[in-house]
Amino acid sequence: MPQPELLSDLRTIVGERGLVTGDAVRARASSSWLGAVEAQGLVRPSTTAEVSQVLALCNARSQAVVPHGGLTGLVHGATAGPDEIILSLEWLNSIERVDVAGRTMRVQAGVQLQRVQEAADQQDLLFPLDLGARGSATIGGNIATNAGGTRVVRYGMARGLVLGLEVVLADGTVLTSLNRMLKNNAGYDLKQLFIGSEGTLGVVTRAELRLVVRPRSHDTALVAAPDFAALVRVLHHLDAGLAGQLSAFEAMWGNFYDINTAPPTQHSAPLARGAAMYALIESLGAEPVADQARLEGLLGELLEAGVITDAALAKSDQERRAMWAIREDVFAVSRIARAQAFDVSLPIDAMLDYTRQVATDLRSIVGPERTFIFGHLADGNLHLVVASGEDVAVRRRVEEVIYRPLADIGGSVSAEHGIGTERIDYLSWSRTPAEIELMRTLKRALDPRGILNPGKVILTKG
Ligand code: ZN
Repeated sequence: MPQPELLSDLRTIVGERGLVTGDAVRARASSSWLGAVEAQGLVRPSTTAEVSQVLALCNARSQAVVPHGGLTGLVHGATAGPDEIILSLEWLNSIERVDVAGRTMRVQAGVQLQRVQEAADQQDLLFPLDLGARGSATIGGNIATNAGGTRVVRYGMARGLVLGLEVVLADGTVLTSLNRMLKNNAGYDLKQLFIGSEGTLGVVTRAELRLVVRPRSHDTALVAAPDFAALVRVLHHLDAGLAGQLSAFEAMWGNFYDINTAPPTQHSAPLARGAAMYALIESLGAEPVADQARLEGLLGELLEAGVITDAALAKSDQERRAMWAIREDVFAVSRIARAQAFDVSLPIDAMLDYTRQVATDLRSIVGPERTFIFGHLADGNLHLVVASGEDVAVRRRVEEVIYRPLADIGGSVSAEHGIGTERIDYLSWSRTPAEIELMRTLKRALDPRGILNPGKVILTKG
């Protein structure tokens, strides 16, 4: 447990309201996915200078610090034990500037993703990063975890949408690198070190984000296909036919669509249940009438050729939201049993064999109709949700079945969720010893006392 002097010194930095202690921490910092948090202190700085003072103090006392954003991560990267202090960025919540001509926005780390999106929208701009947890996830957390989401096929991951960063290092040094230029090749691109480091190399306090002009057309469609190979043909046909406007291509295996459109979920089925595969498709463009006609034409061609068996185009925002709700309700599965969520990367041409093999192996471990697959097909990123229950040994076997084949096919145990604590044992299944050693070298250089989110991503010993 942190010493009382430390808590009182932290209070001196952030003020009475800035420090939460005792049982109140558990109430403040736990979430349904993360579970209960055991830390005894949660500190809420309101400026970068305060973040710097907090880290300088903790570094001097070798006090472990766990940064917190919106707590929507899926790999327990924000888990904090009784000896750790939580550093919440929730009070760094200003949108500082929108540069309309330069299409950039400077924000503090604690701003929710949805607020960033809305602030861009007010200026006829778009911040393209999007994911189901947009209402809770913060931009600092999105950056610290290099979030992906549903538009990566067109706009890339968080990494590609950050132009500059302000980061506080473990010893309290403020690294201000708030570059606004799209191009800056003056030496190492230091911000990339911190993006996706899950709070283990530094704490993100501000960011300069890249925006794009808001598209004038927004078309959403749902299609049903008879098998996986057909869905890949749909992707290629639309990618070619939409000339760069394809912005999302979300695959759903039939049983995922079925369970997510059946009671007790509130979602109705825009297409009949029972097909082998479904895909949710989004196109963003500049000409509403022509763009809709183009998408409709392409879907018509696919129907005529028998590549898809059914299609529905959203005719209103309400219909669009209803289609997305089916895809984003990823834990409908949890009503069967406590679920495990996976996030693997692999080449599209390896997906069919992989998913068949994994489904067969999992059936023998957890039983039939317990494995549900969906994901960002165009990115080579599949999510598997397995209703595996509480048994730790069963959950471990499920992990091995899903992760074991990935190395041979050039895949990854994490496409976008990160490593956190959940996948730390499997990092070496996707990274070489030389890669892991360089990660350790970087960790030791930037955080020699190991105070930043210890036990996450990379273990410094062993
Ligand atoms: Zn995803």
